[in-house]
Amino acid sequence: MGIAASAFIEELLQWMEKNGFESVDLTIDDDFYYDANYNYIALDFKIEAIVGYWITDFFSSLGNQWEDIDGPIYCFLHELGHSQTLKNFTYEEKETALQSTAMFALLEPNKENTFLYWNTPIELAANKWAVNFLNTTNSNIITSLVTIFAKYWNKAVEEEKIHETSIYSAC
Ligand SMILES: [Zn+2]
Repeated sequence: MGIAASAFIEELLQWMEKNGFESVDLTIDDDFYYDANYNYIALDFKIEAIVGYWITDFFSSLGNQWEDIDGPIYCFLHELGHSQTLKNFTYEEKETALQSTAMFALLEPNKENTFLYWNTPIELAANKWAVNFLNTTNSNIITSLVTIFAKYWNKAVEEEKIHETSIYSAC
């Protein structure tokens, strides 16, 4: 993990600890997801910008009152939402969700299909939790989260690219 990525994870963990999410851990991987078995959130620096615009629109449709927040922050809050809402679903509901996730992965990754996916029960619960968190939490807490992402996200993305290039050139 690069320098910016490490510092980012550290500060984000501190933010989570301070705000009641101390049991949830963080890692970097090739996708955004929440692992319920080990209770950690994975962040992906290679997330496509378009997904950020889609989730911004989706959160607006759910009544998000914030503007000018970058997509990756919403993606993070979506995963944090899973960590807070997944326990409300039965084993069967979670199994069904896994199947629908696999099905949606086969579809064209466009806005329409992504919105359909975000409207499935478990995804919608995470999205609604995130929007409620944004709208009801002290604005200083949201602003401090935005600041952490502003400070590190783009640097970490650049680090990731350099890292990938060095892997290819080494071959
Ligand atoms: Zn999700």
